[in-house]
Amino acid sequence: MRNFTCPRCNERTISPSDKFRAGWWQSVHCGHCGARLSALPLAVMLVHFIYVWIAAWIAGIYVYQIDPVYYAAAIATWVVIESINVMLMPLVILKALPQK
Ligand SMILES: [Zn+2]
Repeated sequence: MRNFTCPRCNERTISPSDKFRAGWWQSVHCGHCGARLSALPLAVMLVHFIYVWIAAWIAGIYVYQIDPVYYAAAIATWVVIESINVMLMPLVILKALPQK
């Protein structure tokens, strides 16, 4: 998978693992310009709301003994949301160091 673009210097320096960490409320640093980056907080909040909804869905399937095939749908939804979290989550600049 290709690296993602830094919103400050427009270089492809953000690795997929850094992008994944950004989607879990962690900040990451651009290796080129040193900018401290984070995922867009409103988008992260929306994704985490969906995570809670999926967790409640899985708990409901277990408690009410609904057909176990729905676990597969819940896990597939989780994978799709996690992919969106990595592929489409916009990055924002938290704190920029002076340009080199
Ligand atoms: Zn950068």
